[in-house]
Amino acid sequence: MDSDNLAIAMLCIHSSPIGALGSVNTGGMSIVVRETARELGRQGHRVDIFTAAGGDHHPKIVPLYDNVRLVQLAGKPAGDIPKSELYDHLPGYYQALKSFAAEDGRAYDLLHSHYWLSARLGLWAQNDWDLPHMVTYHTLGRLKLKAGPAEDEPRRRMQWERTLAQACHRLLVATEREKETLMAQAQITASKVGVVPFGVDTATFDTRGKDAARMRLGLKANVAIMLFVGRFVPIKGLERLLTAVALVAKRKNIQLLLIGGDGAEADATMRLRSMADRLGIGKRVIFGGRVEHAELVDYYNAADLLVLPSYYESFGLVVLEALACGTPVVATPVGLVNTIIRNGDNGGIVERPTAQGIATTLEEVLQQGQAGHMSPTDIRAFVLKFAWPAVTRRLCEQYRQTIDAKRTKLQKVTNESYPS
Ligand code: UDP
Repeated sequence: MDSDNLAIAMLCIHSSPIGALGSVNTGGMSIVVRETARELGRQGHRVDIFTAAGGDHHPKIVPLYDNVRLVQLAGKPAGDIPKSELYDHLPGYYQALKSFAAEDGRAYDLLHSHYWLSARLGLWAQNDWDLPHMVTYHTLGRLKLKAGPAEDEPRRRMQWERTLAQACHRLLVATEREKETLMAQAQITASKVGVVPFGVDTATFDTRGKDAARMRLGLKANVAIMLFVGRFVPIKGLERLLTAVALVAKRKNIQLLLIGGDGAEADATMRLRSMADRLGIGKRVIFGGRVEHAELVDYYNAADLLVLPSYYESFGLVVLEALACGTPVVATPVGLVNTIIRNGDNGGIVERPTAQGIATTLEEVLQQGQAGHMSPTDIRAFVLKFAWPAVTRRLCEQYRQTIDAKRTKLQKVTNESYPS
């Protein structure tokens, strides 16, 4: 391993990168951690990912990819701790991290914390180990609270997001919009925040043809299929989507395929199912359950469009995945949507994010698709620059800047002249 290669400790405390995607705590962040770690490993860097999630289900060290290990920290109490209670257990997990590092002996060049809970733990490591520390929040508590119905964020989250932003060496966000919000919220300068988008696996997510994909999935050929992929949480706006679908269903032969969630018995699934029945679209809504990430390629290909009706997204990986498969996207103006969706070319942005507004854009995009206005190859071309190898090289530049930021800070301190 040459000297340009880094040893990185990634902290991903509340959610495991190998957890069940689409369940309440496991979504885009897990993909980002997993894919960037895999690509960093391919590029010769060494990565250890530390998590407290996963309970006792897997061994302490799981070799994930070349140069990449997942380390399961055992805390107290044993087993999975709900995200809302994890804060109080962070000291225990930090002790577990320190014991592991002492025993294992690997020295790190950099810490990269994902989400505020990891950053809180990472601050202890930053200080104890004297390491450069980069933080990616993924979502910001204040934005979630402002945007979302029924989202309950603890006050201390907002306080810590501000404190940690000031204490760490560099912050990384995925969109310019998140950068502006973070700067205002944490009162930090633009130079401390890097912007690197998340990516997509363009080899896995590719155009395969609608008819063949529908055959493989056992879906009907003669109906327009609208697809949602994600966690069943209030911020995703699934209720207003159902209302919108009920409006479209009055005029068009459609189905809504919902992928993700925590199973048929989960409260969120049951609520959505009874809402669909009340709206008279029970037969048009298919609950497809969670699907392995790589298998989603058939679902995106089978669909006439992907719909993302969220109140807030910090990015929205599913948008890239659908576009990579040549499928248009109808979305509210969240995350990366405004920067990538071009009305009529690769989907439509819902300007008035009400059920009626969503219904209007769904109908428009279905119409454009049926008229053959959007070719899968042209749609895919929008995302080729988001392939993980390119995105990860930009991430590495941010790591270098984090290391420089720490050095500069130290020089400032050591160059300070003695007060006369
Ligand atoms: N996902 C999956 N299987 C599912 C549901 C979701 O693999 O059954 C993946 C999806 O493909 C995407 C991620 O989970 O990569 C969700 O990320 P996104 O940024 O769209 O939403 P977030 O979870 O961050 O809110």
